[in-house]
Amino acid sequence: MSIKIRLYVDHPLGPGQSVPLDRDQAHYLFGVMRQKIGAELALFNGVDGEWRAEVTQAGKRGGELACHEQMRPLQMPPDLWLLFAPIKKARTDFIVEKAAEMGAARIVPVQTDFTNSERIRQDRLQAHAVEAAEQCGGTYVPEVCDLQKLDRVLADWPEDRQLMFCDEAEVGAGKALGAVAGHDKWAILIGPEGGFSEAERKRLHALPFAHVVSLGPRILRADTAAVAAMTIWQQHLGDWA
Ligand code: SAM
Repeated sequence: MSIKIRLYVDHPLGPGQSVPLDRDQAHYLFGVMRQKIGAELALFNGVDGEWRAEVTQAGKRGGELACHEQMRPLQMPPDLWLLFAPIKKARTDFIVEKAAEMGAARIVPVQTDFTNSERIRQDRLQAHAVEAAEQCGGTYVPEVCDLQKLDRVLADWPEDRQLMFCDEAEVGAGKALGAVAGHDKWAILIGPEGGFSEAERKRLHALPFAHVVSLGPRILRADTAAVAAMTIWQQHLGDWA
């Protein structure tokens, strides 16, 4: 019987390990998915890989699983961060979900001069990343950071990380991500609906680690731009090649 359900748990996984289920997980497994004692599922926790597990207790408010053997080791994504300015709720959710599916190691919402929203629900966005990992077969869950000011993030920038700066002012300029071999730590930066301010653009263009890139001859919505930029990066430098 092939295992169809994958569940993320915030608990160590190992042979013989018992894993308690919280109310939401119990509701999902036993209420929604109609699983019973003895049912098998795949567990992952973002650290220990993917494990075959079996339901040993099933209740309305909780339950327990027994972990058997590892089916797959942890597969880390490339060391790629996605920096993006939050937009409307559903589109921000989409960006986080796609970033997790496409192999971002970390998701960093940044507040820019023209960012529409000043607040995010980090816990909700993290839950979207978990759900995306459950569905796409990933064994790793990217951390979703709290909203940070772009200025601050750039001031604390790690020396060894390159930045693919997607600048809408370069629309149609044909500036591709050139030959940049020898770096394995990267980030992508996508602006908000209003784009980047001139002050931000000036600062970003002057940074030695920033690579200014155009995403073709049309201005893309921020959510489209995030997916397009990650596709380009993964194809050139990531784990798709
Ligand atoms: N309001 C801006 C304008 O009209 O120029 C457009 C901002 S766009 C909706 C949101 C973000 O997507 C931009 O800040 C940029 O990071 C990225 N983006 C969209 N189209 C792009 C392109 N053709 N080249 C580079 N970046 C692009």
